[in-house]
Amino acid sequence: MQGSLIDSLARQGITRRAFLKYCAMLASMMALPPSAGRAMAEAMATARRPSVIWLPFQECTGCTESITRSHSPSIEGMIFDLISLDYQETLMAAAGHQAEEALHATMKSNHGKYLLIVDGSIPLGMNGAYSCIAGRSNVDLLKETASGAAAIVAMGSCASYGGIPKANPNPTGAVSVSDLVKDKPIVNIPGCPPIPVVMTGVLAHYLTFGALPELDAKGRPKAFFGETIHDRCYRRPFYDQGKFAKTFDDEGARRGWCLFELGCKGPVTYNACATVKWNGGTSWPVESGHGCLGCSEPDFWDGGSFYKALSMPADPLKLGGAAAVAGAAAGVAVSVANRVKKGAAKASHEKATLADLEK
Ligand code: SF4
Ligand code: SF4
Repeated sequence: MQGSLIDSLARQGITRRAFLKYCAMLASMMALPPSAGRAMAEAMATARRPSVIWLPFQECTGCTESITRSHSPSIEGMIFDLISLDYQETLMAAAGHQAEEALHATMKSNHGKYLLIVDGSIPLGMNGAYSCIAGRSNVDLLKETASGAAAIVAMGSCASYGGIPKANPNPTGAVSVSDLVKDKPIVNIPGCPPIPVVMTGVLAHYLTFGALPELDAKGRPKAFFGETIHDRCYRRPFYDQGKFAKTFDDEGARRGWCLFELGCKGPVTYNACATVKWNGGTSWPVESGHGCLGCSEPDFWDGGSFYKALSMPADPLKLGGAAAVAGAAAGVAVSVANRVKKGAAKASHEKATLADLEK
């Protein structure tokens, strides 16, 4: 018999105070007023656990690994106690007919009320035969489960935008959730894999307010995808000074200089890695010495070499002030705010998409 979240946290040695602090942090990350942290904590501690159906489609299981094995025991993990995960074929004990019965029972008894989480893309080629569960194609399953869902979470870049399965030449005809479902609220949480705390934040918001958070033009929660990696990167001062590592083991790399010339896609990638970090806040790719690959943007796999610098001015010192430059081949105007001048630290930077710049 499962008790309240607070009881569950206490059993794991996590105090009420730590939980309140965590909720305050979530509220602040989502740009909600300070009072929202306490409201979130109260709502999560008392909310009726919403039924969740989680369908893994054409994917590598990296998203599931990321969310469930981030660091243990985690408050993020505990928050999953707040949902009733009624179907997830990778995690559930049941298998075969028992599992399918659980799916249909959940869809029937919670029609119009359950949350649907999808990770993986949906292959349309060969009439959907590339990926089937219990003899049914992913596309059929998605249409059936989406019809009774209150809202859908597309978790990871594959579910959000097609991801790696959709990469050229897209042999399975992979598409995203929003390519197929047009009549339900959908939140995209892209990333390859997505950041666990972003998932927690979206769930906490849904439990507290009964609605998905505010989204950007690509369907992502603005609270976590409102700024580029570059906007918040700790190596940014070196970019502004024109100090770039030229190889992964040169003196610049050893000194922690900017990785732009080694192909970093941080300037055109919206995600929260630079602030939230990974593995319980231990580190993140750029801090580990590798440029951002742009994994939370559509078509990131087809955006050109991960090790080729973006086709934009590499040396901000040569910009000489705020300027608009043309993206090389595409002729796309790229707005470049001058971060060199003192006092311009909050200016928004490059606004072109990864695909625009790399065409
Ligand atoms: S280009 Fe990459 S490494 Fe350099 S400041 Fe921007 S995000 Fe950081
Ligand atoms: S740093 Fe870039 S490539 Fe790495 S996880 Fe974050 S968004 Fe994805």
